[in-house]
Amino acid sequence: MAILDQLTSQEAMDLENKYGAHNYHPLPVVLSRGEGVYVWDVEGKKYYDFLSAYSAVNQGHCHPKIVGAMVNQAQTLTLTSRAFYNDMLGRYEKFATEIFGFDKLLPMNTGAEAVETALKICRKWAYEVKGIDENEADIIVCKNNFHGRTTTIISFSNDTVARENFGPFTKGFVKIDYDNLDALEDALKSNSNVAGFMAEPIQGEAGVYVPSEGYLAKAKALCEKYNVLFIADEVQTGIARTGKLLAVDHENVKPDILILGKALSGGAYPVSAVLANDAIMNVIRPGNHGSTFGGNPVAAAVGIAALEVVRDEQLADNAEELGQLFRSELNTYIKSSDLVNLVRGKGLLNAIVINDSEDSDTAWNICLKLRDNGLLAKPTHGNIIRFAPPLVMTEEQLLDCVSIIIKTLKDFE
Ligand SMILES: *Cc1c(COP(=O)(O)O)cnc(C)c1O
Repeated sequence: MAILDQLTSQEAMDLENKYGAHNYHPLPVVLSRGEGVYVWDVEGKKYYDFLSAYSAVNQGHCHPKIVGAMVNQAQTLTLTSRAFYNDMLGRYEKFATEIFGFDKLLPMNTGAEAVETALKICRKWAYEVKGIDENEADIIVCKNNFHGRTTTIISFSNDTVARENFGPFTKGFVKIDYDNLDALEDALKSNSNVAGFMAEPIQGEAGVYVPSEGYLAKAKALCEKYNVLFIADEVQTGIARTGKLLAVDHENVKPDILILGKALSGGAYPVSAVLANDAIMNVIRPGNHGSTFGGNPVAAAVGIAALEVVRDEQLADNAEELGQLFRSELNTYIKSSDLVNLVRGKGLLNAIVINDSEDSDTAWNICLKLRDNGLLAKPTHGNIIRFAPPLVMTEEQLLDCVSIIIKTLKDFE
């Protein structure tokens, strides 16, 4: 078999299973092409993508404007490292900081790297600006968080599968309940070494937990009161996914440090970033931090195009409208269903909770059946299924998807 011979789905899965590390448990479907809201498997079957690569593909698969910018830049200049200037990075930084309203941007590649970067900036600010004693800074995080996979980040996860046998862990993190302002104030009041509070505006991986209305605004106010940086991890919720450019925009909150990734490239390329104003970002000086690929010309070109698509195609408004429709259609179904407890979410980041135990395989089996019926989604935590299609979907397509989902669910009643 030559390496690039056409494979069947089974052959492709066998190759991954035999030669790839088993760090994922994918739904058995092998994709070979994508366009807009659709993906196709190697046998040519077409599906609606209802995961969007964990919200990286908000702009739709292979958006011609983003791919065009990427190809064009790839044929011109791909990588200089930051040892030299390149003629794309500054343009991208100006464009992105203006869109998000910050003085400066620090470019990285993956979400986890951007989270790491934000934590480093926060600690440095704590020592150099706030005046916390060296090595004493704490950062408050939330239970059931998902911020990525590095050793420091899993140090403050409470997912046992993600942590087991990866210790020793990084110190300096305090975990509190999500969506609990009393817990936050207690943690701030009792500890003068707190440098920052980091949270997801909606906990995506945990199962699309939307906090109470006002939580983010009040959390930000508490951070101000105690001179602590509010760090928003918008890697999954940002870039129009929840019906606004950022999920914090629903409460008019401006984070001190903003973390972006995933859809910052529309899924074409790994592009992440940390944004902050000068009073914070200026703690970073030459040599303090870096990345060979971070801020490369292809990433910069892709980042500009991806954000232009979000703006020009009004994806936030579309996500808001289609999200309302999606939840209202599913709520109508849920009223007459014992199988589904509820639907929750904002914009086009939604999830349903299946009325079954967390260790049941009902949600997994529903996802297999959804696949057979032409729609791809994946369970998050046992009995929760996340629904997050590309934001370029039309109302007609969404209603088609709703009917596939309801028809499938009815088979499990
Ligand atoms: C996906 C995700 C990350 C990690 O991003 P990677 O690119 O996988 O490293 C961090 N935070 C949140 C909220 C995410 O959803």
